[in-house]
Amino acid sequence: MPESNSDQQNNDQENLDIFTKDFFDILFKGNETTDNTELKRQVNTLKQAAKDQELTTPIIALFSKLKSIRETQKLSPKAFGLERRELTTLALKHENIDEHDVSVGGRVEKALPIVQEAITRVDEYISAKTEQAPSGFELWDSILETQEKIKSYLNMNDDDWNSYSGQIKHCINSVEELSKVIDLPERVIKEVTRVTKDYRMRLTPYYASLIQTKSANDPILLQSVPTGEMIDNLGEEIPPVAADHSPARLIDQFYPRVVTIKATNMCAMYCTHCLRLAHIGKKDRIYTEQAYEEALDYIRGNDQIRDILITGGDSFVLPNKILKKILTALDEIDHVKMKRLGTRIPVTAPQRVDNELLDILAQSNDKKPVRVVTQINTAQEMTPLSGDAFKRISKNVFAVLNQAVLLKGINDTRVKMWKLCETIQENYVRPYYLFNCSYRNPQFTHFRVPIEKGQDIIESMYGNISGDAIPRYIATAGGKIPLHRSNVQGSSDGDIILKKPWNGEVVNYPDADKGIYENERFAFMKP
Ligand SMILES: *Cc1c(COP(=O)(O)O)cnc(C)c1O
Ligand code: SF4
Repeated sequence: MPESNSDQQNNDQENLDIFTKDFFDILFKGNETTDNTELKRQVNTLKQAAKDQELTTPIIALFSKLKSIRETQKLSPKAFGLERRELTTLALKHENIDEHDVSVGGRVEKALPIVQEAITRVDEYISAKTEQAPSGFELWDSILETQEKIKSYLNMNDDDWNSYSGQIKHCINSVEELSKVIDLPERVIKEVTRVTKDYRMRLTPYYASLIQTKSANDPILLQSVPTGEMIDNLGEEIPPVAADHSPARLIDQFYPRVVTIKATNMCAMYCTHCLRLAHIGKKDRIYTEQAYEEALDYIRGNDQIRDILITGGDSFVLPNKILKKILTALDEIDHVKMKRLGTRIPVTAPQRVDNELLDILAQSNDKKPVRVVTQINTAQEMTPLSGDAFKRISKNVFAVLNQAVLLKGINDTRVKMWKLCETIQENYVRPYYLFNCSYRNPQFTHFRVPIEKGQDIIESMYGNISGDAIPRYIATAGGKIPLHRSNVQGSSDGDIILKKPWNGEVVNYPDADKGIYENERFAFMKP
């Protein structure tokens, strides 16, 4: 039997979900008359669009307008000739169109305000990220200008600039040289000259071109040019890691199943915060065939070892021939299942990433997974050139991971760290670790950031940027120790009390029942 018109209307009213009913109750509590003809015209246009189109957007536009009119002018939909019946029909139309049956009340009263509130958490970042933490992409025009200056001063032609050998041949090793190609403030020159006698300085012309001379605290400058603090901080030396963690030649081992081979002591650029300062030493060394063989023998003889990190120095400094040899030898060891290559070269000398190297990576990756582990500390280090190098590497290996160091003045703010993590992720590099700058080398006490500050920065990322762009925060102290804060606040009555890192809201989360977990068997396992 066909329902009567008014039965249908009553049914419709009841079919509304609780969010929409509450929403309508509020709307219709407003005043029922107005002589604002302009507003009437606007509402009428929105109503017509909501009725005519088989789409959700115009319906939401109408209801959002009615909500805002109710809030700002205390007017009911009736002031525009809209009855509850007509709005109910539109609300049900919305629910019917929407694939997930989302109601008008749910969307307008709950979802949209929640999104609006969430947006306020990233407002500051979005408005500040280009100015406070420009990427190498954003600075590219200025970088190109500096490149031209450097090329002409160093007498480099395009072939020199675009080749790794050209970059290495023209490396900048002193502040005198650097000050010729970059406008360094007088203070910086004096400070640096004081220390380069004791500390090694080297940067590729390419890396030097990333320096933005307007700022004395340029993050590229701070990372590559030793400053007075490094001498002033000298005090009690803590013996280098290798002294107590090297069970065999070239090998460092903290863990049973992962070891590193320090395959070279060279880098295309020497970092002022380098953990391996002592190992990098004062001069380049070429390692002998026997050294690599002894390291490989140690791995061959210990069949619990599964993952090998080839590091340095910088593993990409090694000639292709040697890299290939080591990777091939590792691939031939049955118990070795994974390999990693530690390198900063894609950011310090991206010209190194040639097709021959990519082929070596691809061939080894075909046998057992290869990960390339890099170190990028600011978005400024990611340029069209390094981005391209990472893209090409990522096509040939299992993963490209970043290990950043938390450094004062370089990446110790929310905006700088978010920007770094987002920028590298957009360039095929996944944030992996963020290291607290080590206590071990007194030379870089001035770069250290309190643990708590790092925890705040990391915590601010949850819920606000992609989960797989959030690194794990780590202290290195004879192995890597996680530094994250616990978001478990306590427990009550079988619930765990959790804190949402992005807004501090506390939620109760029912834990699994221990009795069921320990005693119950699955139905198909019961006798
Ligand atoms: C970092 C490091 C590793 C690897 O640690 P993961 O947590 O697996 O990344 C292994 N050995 C040494 C000596 C290291 O410094
Ligand atoms: S690239 Fe790595 S090993 Fe080389 S100087 Fe920098 S931190 Fe040290």
